[in-house]
Amino acid sequence: MTTEPKLRPAGPTDIAEFAGQNGHSRVGSSNGTPHVDLAAAQRAAADFLSALGIKLDSEELRDTPGRMARAYAELFDSPPLRLTTFPNDEGYDELVLARDIPFRTVCAHHLLPFSGVAHVGYLPGDRILGLSKLARLVEYWAARPQTQERLTKQVADYLDAQLKPRGAGVVLEAEHSCMTIRGVRAIGSTTITSALSGTLRSDARSRAEFLALAGVQ
Ligand code: ZN
Repeated sequence: MTTEPKLRPAGPTDIAEFAGQNGHSRVGSSNGTPHVDLAAAQRAAADFLSALGIKLDSEELRDTPGRMARAYAELFDSPPLRLTTFPNDEGYDELVLARDIPFRTVCAHHLLPFSGVAHVGYLPGDRILGLSKLARLVEYWAARPQTQERLTKQVADYLDAQLKPRGAGVVLEAEHSCMTIRGVRAIGSTTITSALSGTLRSDARSRAEFLALAGVQ
């Protein structure tokens, strides 16, 4: 669920995004994140570690439940998203692409980190975007338990819905610690996902150009 853009005819426009996935409201707190009960998270972390047979009475581990709670709260925290858009006065109609945007998130299945780089681009229509916003988009949607597939699609869908470009493209390359440090222990393996829309999806040349510039052949 996303808000509709409120576009003015000229000048920079801020598009505020208030609703997270699954309808969780992000309204009402100053930093745009849902309410976090750090004390409850700390108690639960202590119970969790104790249940795994880890004794918390050493100096090294005494404060670990609190550190765990704050670390996860940080992973799920993101400032509210504001997409500043500008009129495309020059009629620029070639690809705009931000490459190698670093991101980190946690997998929804194991709550273990996965991280990598995102390549996010679009073919401008009537409006263009402040360049840093492509990175902010990724950061925003990464600040929650994720799957790589969903993160890829959410960034592309949001860009599509809010900017209404002629096409949008997102490629993510990531290493999943739940695949490298446990399970199959496929150390060094990366997963690539992509989501394309509009002309970037339908036109073979635009698609090939985007994938080549994103470094995915
Ligand atoms: Zn996982």
